Amino acid sequence: MRIAVLSGKGGTGKTTITSNFAVSIKNSISIDSDVEEPNLHIFMDMKTPISEPVYTLYPSIDKELCNLCGKCGDFCNYNAIIPAKNQVVVFSESCHDCGGCKLVCPTGAITYKKREVGKIFKGKTKYDTELYYGILNIGEMSGVKIINQLKKYSELDEKTIFIDSPPGTSCATVAAVEDVDYAIIVSEPTPFGVSDMKMVVEMLTEMKIPFGLIINKAGLGDNEIYDYCKDEDIEILGEIPFNKKIAELYADGKIFSDSLPEYKNFFNDIYKHITEKRSLL
Ligand code: SF4
Ligand code: SF4
Repeated sequence: MRIAVLSGKGGTGKTTITSNFAVSIKNSISIDSDVEEPNLHIFMDMKTPISEPVYTLYPSIDKELCNLCGKCGDFCNYNAIIPAKNQVVVFSESCHDCGGCKLVCPTGAITYKKREVGKIFKGKTKYDTELYYGILNIGEMSGVKIINQLKKYSELDEKTIFIDSPPGTSCATVAAVEDVDYAIIVSEPTPFGVSDMKMVVEMLTEMKIPFGLIINKAGLGDNEIYDYCKDEDIEILGEIPFNKKIAELYADGKIFSDSLPEYKNFFNDIYKHITEKRSLL
């Protein structure tokens, strides 16, 4: 079972929730797909990870064969290949490696070169769980390639997988949550939290992914989030109180359910509830 944890914006406690699930649910695997700013491995104290590069392909033009017909430029949705007056210009960072321009080129002038866009790291954590995360190279525009590669590892295993998704509703978030069995939104009970969460609710509804909400820092704001969930029939899976002890553990880089074992039951109960719900679908 694959469960994505996501939020409307960064800093709402998404990684905190993912790490607490990862240490509470036995034999689970966690994936940090926030490849622009991964930090789950820091919380979970990952030991000596193995890394491997992730490549993308981009077009290279044989000037001898190119007749400047313009078909590649017409095809590309990303303006990554532009036939100019005397030559075809390629913007490799904008290329999404779809392979389409080669297919439409009538003269066989296009081949592909590979470029490293980032790395994947895999290994064990201090909690003896498996963890995968990726890092996008500086200057690269899209982490989708790395996220898709990270998710391929999860397909190899039957264990429960928690995916810490990129914040918001970007292409990277869509790639991270695509094909998951369930999504957990994390939000704070403030007007900003509700506003950011609405975009995520729309995205998951559009993608037909079942989801529920964990309210982080409950007691901090007002009732808007409860009214919204009632109006939209969104299930509140649980609430983590705005609590000094939890904040201190977080500030020390600790996973709070490791020090407050009652929260292991909290995360286990939510997990059990989700699996029961899924079995009924
Ligand atoms: S591979 Fe796809 S995205 Fe890249 S330049 Fe060709 S058509 Fe554009
Ligand atoms: S489709 Fe092929 S031949 Fe036509 S402009 Fe592009 S590279 Fe040149």
